[in-house]
Amino acid sequence: MPVRFDIAIVGGGIAGASLAYRLANSSARSVRRILLLERESQPGYHATGRSAALYTQAYGNAAIRALTVASRAFYDAPPAGFADHPLLTPRGAMVIATRAQADKLEAETLDVQRQAPQVQLIGAAEARALAPMLRQDYAALAAYEPDAMDMDVNAILQGCLRGAKAAGVDIRTDAPVTDLARLNDGWRLETPTGAVTAGIVVNAAGAWASEVAALAGAQKIEITPKRRTAFLFKGPAGLNLSDRPMVIDVDEQFYFKPDAGLILGSPADETPMPPHDASPDELDIAVGADRIQRAADLPIRRIESSWAGLRSFTSDKTPVVGFDCAAPGFFWFAGQGGYGIQTAPAMAAVATALLEGTPIAHTLPKLALSATALAPDRFSAPPRQ
Ligand SMILES: Cc1cc2nc3c(=O)[nH]c(=O)nc-3n(C[C@H](O)[C@H](O)[C@H](O)COP(=O)(O)OP(=O)(O)OC[C@H]3O[C@@H](n4cnc5c(N)ncnc54)[C@H](O)[C@@H]3O)c2cc1C
Repeated sequence: MPVRFDIAIVGGGIAGASLAYRLANSSARSVRRILLLERESQPGYHATGRSAALYTQAYGNAAIRALTVASRAFYDAPPAGFADHPLLTPRGAMVIATRAQADKLEAETLDVQRQAPQVQLIGAAEARALAPMLRQDYAALAAYEPDAMDMDVNAILQGCLRGAKAAGVDIRTDAPVTDLARLNDGWRLETPTGAVTAGIVVNAAGAWASEVAALAGAQKIEITPKRRTAFLFKGPAGLNLSDRPMVIDVDEQFYFKPDAGLILGSPADETPMPPHDASPDELDIAVGADRIQRAADLPIRRIESSWAGLRSFTSDKTPVVGFDCAAPGFFWFAGQGGYGIQTAPAMAAVATALLEGTPIAHTLPKLALSATALAPDRFSAPPRQ
C-alpha cells in the first residue's frame, strides 16, 4: 500500500517550501502528515533561485501590494532559529520617469501610496543625488521607496525547508509527479520511485502549474510562464555604488541595482514560453544593456554572467490560491508572478488558513485582501448575459 499523507505539495520552490513550513508549524496542527515533492535534485532550482531578490511594496497590483505589505513582519522578525542573519538588508528603490512618462508615474504613485505612504515623488535633482549614475536630464521624476530591501532568498528558502523538516515534513527531491488519480478520499500521486496517496494535493508547481492541474482534471486556469532575463556587469572603476537604490523604469523596460560588488541589470522582458529550464537570449541581454546605458552612465563592457527564469502569471496577474472548482481536494497555489518571494509569508498564511478551514483574520489580521480575490472560482464564472 502506498504511504498516506494528509497533504502532498507538488513543487519545492518558495511557494511549496513556505507553505510546508507554515502548515507544519501551525498552532492549529490539524494537518499532521505533509509531503513535499520536488522534481529537481535541488529545491529552488527554477524561478526561486533566479530572482532579483528585491522586496518592494510599490510593485504589482493592489492584491500583490497587500500581500507584500503583510509579509514584511515575518521577514523583519522571523521565528527564532529560522536564519542566523537578517533576511532583509536596506536597498531602497526608485521608479523613474522621463518627461514623457511623468504623468503615468504620478498617477501610479498616488495609487501605490494608499498601501505604501512612504513612497514619495521626488524631482530630477533629488533622484540624481540618490542615484548619481543616472544621466543628466534622463529622469524628470522619480518615486522613491526608501525602505525597499534586498532579500536573502537562499536564507529564506533554506529557513523554510529546515523548519519544515524539523516539524516533520517529508521532503523528497528528484521526485517528479508524473500522474494524479482521484480516489474516493483523496489522490494517488505517481512518481518514478513509487506512488503515494494524500487527502489533498497542493499545486505549487510554478511554471508547470497548468500541467499539474491537467493531470488532476482540474479547472483550466491559464497560468502563463514568461521568461525574464538578468545579467551582471562591473560598475565604473573607482565608483562605489553598493549603497545606491535599485532603479526601475516606470514602463518596466529595464532595471538595475548593485549586487555583491557588481550591477544586476535586466530588460524586464516578459516573453511567454512553455515551461522549461529557461536560459537567457543574447538579444534580450543586448536590449537590456542598451536601455540601461541610455538612462545611466554605466558603460557595459562585458557581461560577467547571465541567467533567465520563468515568472508565471494568471490572466489578472493575481495568484490563484484555494480549492479547485472541478477536482475535490485539489488546491491551487500558483501564479506568483514576479513577486513570489516578497509575498511568500502572507501567501503561505492565507493558504494555511484555507487548508485548515480557519479565518485568515486569525493569522493575518492586517491583510487588506479577502480570500475571494485569490480564489480559483474567479476563473470559472459564467459569462455575463
Ligand atoms: C529574473 C527574475 C527576477 C525576479 N525578481 C523577483 C524579485 O525581485 N522579488 C520577488 O519577490 N520575486 C521575483 N521574481 C519572481 C519569483 O522568483 C517567483 O515568483 C517565485 O520564485 C515563484 O516561486 P514558485 O515556488 O511558485 O516557482 P518555482 O521556484 O519555479 O518552483 C516550482 C517548482 O515546482 C517544481 N515542479 C514542477 N512540476 C513538478 C512536478 N510535476 N513534480 C514535482 N515538482 C514539480 C519545479 O521543479 C520547481 O522547482 C523574479 C523572477 C525572475 C525569473
